[in-house]
Amino acid sequence: MSDLEQRLADLEDQGLRRRMRLVSGPQGSRVVLDGRPVLLLCSNNYLGLAEHQRVREAAADAAMRYGAGAGASRLVSGTMSIHRRLEQRLASFKGTEAAVLFGSGYLANTGVVSALATASGPDTVVYSDALNHASIVDGCRLARAQTVVYDHCDTDHLRWCLEQHTGRPGIIVTDSVFSMDGDVAPLADIVALAREFGVRLVVDEAHGTGCCGPEGRGAIADAGVDPAAVDVIVGTLGKALGSYGAFAACSATMADYLTNTARQLIFSTAPPPPSVAAALAALDLVIEDPSYATRLQANANTLRDALAREGFEVAGASTQIIPLIVGDAALAMRICELAIEGGVFAQAIRPPTVPEGTSRLRLAVMASHTKAELREAAAVLARAAMQAGFRPASGLPVAATQGPASPRHAAA
Ligand SMILES: *Cc1c(COP(=O)(O)O)cnc(C)c1O
Repeated sequence: MSDLEQRLADLEDQGLRRRMRLVSGPQGSRVVLDGRPVLLLCSNNYLGLAEHQRVREAAADAAMRYGAGAGASRLVSGTMSIHRRLEQRLASFKGTEAAVLFGSGYLANTGVVSALATASGPDTVVYSDALNHASIVDGCRLARAQTVVYDHCDTDHLRWCLEQHTGRPGIIVTDSVFSMDGDVAPLADIVALAREFGVRLVVDEAHGTGCCGPEGRGAIADAGVDPAAVDVIVGTLGKALGSYGAFAACSATMADYLTNTARQLIFSTAPPPPSVAAALAALDLVIEDPSYATRLQANANTLRDALAREGFEVAGASTQIIPLIVGDAALAMRICELAIEGGVFAQAIRPPTVPEGTSRLRLAVMASHTKAELREAAAVLARAAMQAGFRPASGLPVAATQGPASPRHAAA
């Protein structure tokens, strides 16, 4: 057995082996998964815009008008007018002076965090929430700055960490809506701490953009926080906006700085025109029709209520992401497989994506689900859990995932 095969066998033994499932057709609220029709309950295509007619047509038109690819980095062969237009629209959507496109959210986070850490010199400290997305964690690693991981959403601990390093330049970085727990960072308090200690603040709105706040403007707008108080707002085009790519919304100076220093922007081909046009069309729809965000929230409440009636412990947050914490990785996989047999696809999420002992089914509601579908899904999930020998009520509450240890930050 080669070392690769051995490593794969180890993952299998630990219940951590990953495989891709095959979906035929678009990522709608129902998909055909490995040949079986199921309700899709784990997509980040929250508003159903990836398969929206207007979004598809915009992508197709852009392919004809601008071509399939951007050809090079925008710093090499020039930016296309469509990239500019999307940046202007995103800046006005987020209430910032400027926005800069990146190839993906992963690239945006690694680029922004490392570029900012370089700006303030080798003494910089990055303060990162324990449950931040892997791309932020990798940005911290790339920055080679000292990284201090604070307890999840714990502003007392964040304050304590800041006090340990007073006088040194710093960057606080946090998800707004946490990707695997669906809870929301205490943004107003974090902004106040950033001001008090004179450090920069980066907020990742990957799961907030299009989903919460007035007209889906995000969690920062929802919290009533002045966008100018956040140095960089990162968002992706790949989730609620149904396309692919990402952006950093910020001041004009910051945009200029990122354009000059973020290697993920400089040394990578610009997002393809069809993706940019699709995001533009999706943004139009979100702004035109505020019912996208409200329907998403209403659906999240419907599923939460239905799950609670089935005996599941559902955390208090109100976002479209609902974790059913199971604990054991193999058990989470078993429940996932049984639910698929029952016609509901909710992917099991295991370490290192989530901390050890907190494997879960991460449910993601879409605005295009019907209430009947969501109620039925809750019943299917309860049956699957029971069949797998898991009593719904024995789930760990989300708070159990919180703690100083952060396998995601620690993992090599
Ligand atoms: C998905 C995600 C990203 C990465 O975005 P992509 O555009 O998919 O690369 C970044 N941050 C968070 C919180 C995410 O969930």
